[in-house]
Amino acid sequence: MLTQTAFSSSKPKRRSYDVVIVGGAIMGASVAWYLSNNADFNGSVLVVEKDPTYQFTSTMTTTSCIRQQFSTELNVRISQYAAEVINNFREHMGGDKRVPDLSIQNFGYMYLADNQGFADVLRKNQQVQLAAGAHTQLLTAAEIKQQYPFYQLDDIVLGSINLVNEGYFDSTAVFDWWRRKSCEQGVEYVANQVVAINCNKAGNRVATITLDSGEVIACGQLVNATGPRADVTAKMAGIALPVEPRKRYSWVFTAEQPLDQALPLTIDPAGVHVRESGHGTYQAGGHALIDPAADYDDFTMDNTLWEEHIWPVLAKRIPQFEAIRVTSEWTGHYAYNVLDHNAILGPHTEVENFIFLNGFSGHGLQQAPAMGRGIAEWIVYGEYRSMDLSAFGYGRIVDNLPLVENAII
Ligand SMILES: Cc1cc2nc3c(=O)[nH]c(=O)nc-3n(C[C@H](O)[C@H](O)[C@H](O)COP(=O)(O)OP(=O)(O)OC[C@H]3O[C@@H](n4cnc5c(N)ncnc54)[C@H](O)[C@@H]3O)c2cc1C
Repeated sequence: MLTQTAFSSSKPKRRSYDVVIVGGAIMGASVAWYLSNNADFNGSVLVVEKDPTYQFTSTMTTTSCIRQQFSTELNVRISQYAAEVINNFREHMGGDKRVPDLSIQNFGYMYLADNQGFADVLRKNQQVQLAAGAHTQLLTAAEIKQQYPFYQLDDIVLGSINLVNEGYFDSTAVFDWWRRKSCEQGVEYVANQVVAINCNKAGNRVATITLDSGEVIACGQLVNATGPRADVTAKMAGIALPVEPRKRYSWVFTAEQPLDQALPLTIDPAGVHVRESGHGTYQAGGHALIDPAADYDDFTMDNTLWEEHIWPVLAKRIPQFEAIRVTSEWTGHYAYNVLDHNAILGPHTEVENFIFLNGFSGHGLQQAPAMGRGIAEWIVYGEYRSMDLSAFGYGRIVDNLPLVENAII
């Protein structure tokens, strides 16, 4: 459950802040927490969040899982750090006894390949993951069947699964405690909307922001943590950003004959994924075959998608899912980086105090600890110290040099 204690007002207490974070969901909360917890930082931080209910954010419409199965070493390392934070959450939050102990429900992600081309991708990814210290195993269809007899695998040539630090975690608790503790440590959250970003005459620095309520606030650094609206925010400063909202649908269902063992987060080659959701419930996700940029405010369901695509795929892969009942459904937006499906992080190449924290598609929750820590370090020290995240810089967008992450769900 999310607490509302963070928002005391819609009106900032000051006219000027060292750091203004636009967007107060998981990414904004992460930077705010790491800044407020850094002994070398004693500046002022304002977080501006337009919707304190967070109803339509990526953060609150998520599947809430973590995996180590990425195709680049850096993304594996980022998830390793997330696992460290989750598995030691109370300690991470300074040993505060109010903070819950968290853990990862390690049912693993099961990638299924139905052709040699994708099997080769899984083999290649496994090498990257093993080299980075992950525990990915490749399984033949017979081996999968032996361990997970409920799957129908006639078309499957290879599977890939990792059972260490891979599965569900309580991302809402992480988000909530980052917000609560950073407020206790002096960060100010206001319920308001940034409607304009005003640069200096030379055009190389953000000078002020304008709020929906009319206040103009000066800022030393501006962090764009506005998720699927990241390009709208960038545009306010005259910056182009190749991030767009893409609709992703989720369904929770019960099965007439529940499985008698935990269901890995299964990525079916037909473009559907499904996972264990506890107490005989399951959560499936997917998107329409044609997947254009969505309108920022369009969260309508596609009612035919479940009947015509998702459910048939589930029932084919897991015959026990022929008789199921949907208990809830919703639509969320990925912040989708159309260049290379990877994060865009750090300062703009020309507007030097405009800092990106954008483009996380379907893996931003697990990236929030490393990304928030990295941006906080960049603000305090002018460099990434704990992990070099410079590969995600905006320069590659300008130079059109993709840093492709191919393990996107
Ligand atoms: C269906 C789905 C499943 C997912 N599953 C997973 C998963 O299993 N694991 C994982 O790691 N990740 C997952 N993700 C991705 C993850 O949820 C996101 O990457 C992450 O939540 C992004 O957080 P954010 O803070 O950048 O964006 P958001 O959560 O969208 O937050 C952006 C915030 O900015 C605010 N804002 C926007 N414009 C303004 C403005 N002008 N002024 C003030 N405030 C503004 C918004 O109101 C919002 O609160 C999933 C995403 C979706 C949609």
